[in-house]
Amino acid sequence: MLILHCPCCGIDADETELTPGGEAHLTRVGPDTPDEAFEGYLFMRENPRGVHFERWRHAYGCGKWFHAARCTVTLEVFGTYPAQTAKPPADLLQTISDKRPGWTWRDLA
Ligand SMILES: [Zn+2]
Repeated sequence: MLILHCPCCGIDADETELTPGGEAHLTRVGPDTPDEAFEGYLFMRENPRGVHFERWRHAYGCGKWFHAARCTVTLEVFGTYPAQTAKPPADLLQTISDKRPGWTWRDLA
């Protein structure tokens, strides 16, 4: 069972209390963006075999969104952090790099 720590209310919530929200840290595009870039924003998502940054909502708890870093293969959770951050916290990136040497994800690692 997937258990994520909600950084908003401090509860360790199991997956029955959570709603997935897809990939975290998407770059939003506006109406002046070329069609190809807008299509990429709407439909193209990372689907890594390994570390992934995701959005989750504590739907049956505080109701707030947060981000989680976890491994899609082992379900290991590296950490969670508030959704109002543009990039994952540096200490979380270091934790992931310590556990998964050579790991990279976009330009974040
Ligand atoms: Zn919560």
